[in-house]
Amino acid sequence: MITGNGIVIKLGATIILLFLIVLLPVGFVIDRIFSGFYVNEVRSKIEQTSSHYAQMFSNMTTPSILPMIDMMSGFSQFNLFIVDAHGQIIVNSGVTNIKKGEFVPAEDLAALAKGEMIERVTIESTTEGRYLISGSPILKDQGFYGGVYVLASLEGIDLSLQKVRAMLLLAGFGTFFLALAFTYIISKKLSSPLIQMERAARRIAKGNLDTRVQITSNDEIGSLAQAINDLAFDLKRYRDTQREFFANISHELRTPITYLEGYSKVLREKLYESPDEEEKYLEIIHEETGRLSRMIGDLFDLAKMDEGKISLHLEWIDLTEVLEGAIAKTSIRAKEKGLEVQFNISGECVLVHCDGNRLTQVFINILDNAIRYSEAGSVFIELSYEQEETKIAIMDTGMGIPEAELPYIFDRFYRVEKSRSRQYGGTGLGLAIVKNLVELQGGNIHVTSNVGKGTCFLISFPRLDIGNIKGEE
Ligand code: ADP
Repeated sequence: MITGNGIVIKLGATIILLFLIVLLPVGFVIDRIFSGFYVNEVRSKIEQTSSHYAQMFSNMTTPSILPMIDMMSGFSQFNLFIVDAHGQIIVNSGVTNIKKGEFVPAEDLAALAKGEMIERVTIESTTEGRYLISGSPILKDQGFYGGVYVLASLEGIDLSLQKVRAMLLLAGFGTFFLALAFTYIISKKLSSPLIQMERAARRIAKGNLDTRVQITSNDEIGSLAQAINDLAFDLKRYRDTQREFFANISHELRTPITYLEGYSKVLREKLYESPDEEEKYLEIIHEETGRLSRMIGDLFDLAKMDEGKISLHLEWIDLTEVLEGAIAKTSIRAKEKGLEVQFNISGECVLVHCDGNRLTQVFINILDNAIRYSEAGSVFIELSYEQEETKIAIMDTGMGIPEAELPYIFDRFYRVEKSRSRQYGGTGLGLAIVKNLVELQGGNIHVTSNVGKGTCFLISFPRLDIGNIKGEE
């Protein structure tokens, strides 16, 4: 059984992982951008200042520089010191830990002497704290005179960067927890309909087919819920028809068996009074055996149709021949009842692509009914070849079917009047088989009827092009 945690954890872990994959490099880049920005800002300032001072000092003599330096360092936010042409510090303003008379590193001096600027972050041994240093050479009359160093403490920058980092961290954690809460809500929202559907599916599996999922969203989850509901509906319909069908079968089989049992007992125990009576009972047994065998044959046919296993031998056939064959087979019964059978053809013959034997079965079934449910009058068979389709109408002048019953007469075991059909020897399966067979062969069947006047079954097959069918085959 699924629980909400499955999705919550999986989704949460994925989002957090994605979040970390994105947030960590982004945080790192932002940190780099900020620190780069601050350092560059200060660097360009001290560069400007050092080269500016170097220019200024190149026009002054050493004694006049000293008060000047004091004054300037008072105004400036930077500290500075000056070295002579030997690299010895001659003036120092505000740089702690560096004493007048000390020497700057030889490579510094070499660079300055070449007229190059120096730029670096200070070495701890020479200064206290971290400084950004820019040194510019002082050139007098094209000769090297010394250099001016401007130092900016990185303490301020570090402080600002710390603040930025703290803010970044705070924003990161804030977003992280927001994402966590968001993930939790989203996954709860996602998993709750799934849990609902899982419970519904389990209830359906247990046979509770009235179960429905109450989800109406328009997305994939909504359509899955709809599919589950449709499944439950179809299963219920299937179960109901199955139940009804089996109830009908057992009832229908029991009736002839009861007759057989009863009359065979009468015969065995010689409970009849005359040979005529004996003959009558034997006749009943014969009829009921025939009905049982017909019913079993019909059920077998229906079962094959349901499974889609009925094999049709489709060929181009002339309906006139098929109808004449079916009429010939049923005409004895019609004659016995004194019914007139008329067959009429209109239009020019067009072949239909059907199974001849199955069509004969269809027409015999309908003709049998027409004869069975008519006491007098005639049976008309009208075959008409029309532009779009070929139609077969089988009309009788029998007892008819009430309008309210018409929609059901193609249902299995449906009979207009139970006693009426039984009296006439029907099984209630004939028309169900007829409809199935007609539709399997691409046709349509309709019925119209007037109680007391007669019934008309109309079958139609669309006119097909031989070329097309051959191509398909
Ligand atoms: P059955 O074997 O009982 O005739 P069918 O499936 O062939 O079963 O027919 C279903 C029911 O439809 C019959 O029981 C009968 O009541 C009615 N029916 C069929 N054809 C006719 C007809 N031509 N005239 C009157 N009633 C008919």
